[in-house]
Amino acid sequence: MDADPTLHDIIIVGGGPAGLTAAVYAARKMLDVLLITQNIGGQALYSLDVENYMGYQFISGQDLMDRFEKQVEKYNVKKVFSDVKSVEKINDAFITRSEKGDEYRGKTVIIATGKKSRTLNAKGLDRLIGRGVSYCATCDAPLFMDSDVAVVGGGNSAITAAYELMSIARKVYLVNRSALKADELYLEKIRDARNIERFVGYELVEVTGDDVLNSAMLRNLSDGSSVTLPVAGIFIEIGLIPNSEIVKDLVSRNKKDEIMVSCDCSTSLPGVFAAGDVTTVPEKQIIVAAGEGAKAAISAYKYLLNEGEHAVIGY
Ligand SMILES: Cc1cc2nc3c(=O)[nH]c(=O)nc-3n(C[C@H](O)[C@H](O)[C@H](O)COP(=O)(O)OP(=O)(O)OC[C@H]3O[C@@H](n4cnc5c(N)ncnc54)[C@H](O)[C@@H]3O)c2cc1C
Repeated sequence: MDADPTLHDIIIVGGGPAGLTAAVYAARKMLDVLLITQNIGGQALYSLDVENYMGYQFISGQDLMDRFEKQVEKYNVKKVFSDVKSVEKINDAFITRSEKGDEYRGKTVIIATGKKSRTLNAKGLDRLIGRGVSYCATCDAPLFMDSDVAVVGGGNSAITAAYELMSIARKVYLVNRSALKADELYLEKIRDARNIERFVGYELVEVTGDDVLNSAMLRNLSDGSSVTLPVAGIFIEIGLIPNSEIVKDLVSRNKKDEIMVSCDCSTSLPGVFAAGDVTTVPEKQIIVAAGEGAKAAISAYKYLLNEGEHAVIGY
């Protein structure tokens, strides 16, 4: 447990597209920048093919994030790999505390903590995580070569997972409570797949297996009947929730727990800025998160110069 005595100009929490871009913009203003993050790259690492980041017609999320990281390394940005558990304001400083109790102090803070997978409450699921149950198709799909697997969900994440799995697994069951809600662009990719079987109007109720997963039980929502799928893998892709708990007592959040920001990335508390997927910014995309990170850093810089206007929450 350490308490860093430095009062940094800006502490950025989160090393995804928003946080890394904020770090570059802040460092270019010659500010003392501390980046605290669990990892470098965030959710972008899960994207096998990014086709909508300008300047690249095609790049993997990993390659794009490696390039972001290299750009950060050109500047004097201190990095700490840690899990921030809380942010609080004491006098004029914002204090971040990690799981281990390490403390860092900043004159301003930018929250760029993005989103994480929503978990599902089905019997046996938690016990078999890492033993057939996965929340990340990009990370774990290669483990299921020629196996039968299921994907639970009907949004973009679920369809992306099914798309990745259809060329690895023997059979992919796509399970969703209601009609698929993914963008047409994603649906098109799986439209003609011969090894995807859809179970629309079903929910996952239980998974079984001693050491490793061997079956998933579904319930038909209209007649209550059940179906058992013999699967070695199951991917839970039912959406994402914002990582905003660390500031729940500090700034205003909306009903979806997104941090409410104005168009200059300021929050309800002066000195606290937020950027990217964790906020109320309407679209959750790499290019949007990067742009918001840039704005948040410039707004924090202006705040430090006492020039920034604290805009009224507006998104
Ligand atoms: C499967 C998938 C495919 C996608 N494909 C595309 C695509 O093709 N094109 C596109 O534009 N977008 C895509 N997206 C969306 C895109 O990845 C996100 O919009 C973008 O990554 C958001 O960036 P962010 O920096 O706001 O948050 P994130 O990428 O979520 O990064 C958050 C960062 O904060 C860190 N963090 C979180 N909590 C803490 C904490 N308590 N303490 C310390 N660090 C913390 C995390 O470790 C991470 O480094 C995809 C998303 C997924 C899930």
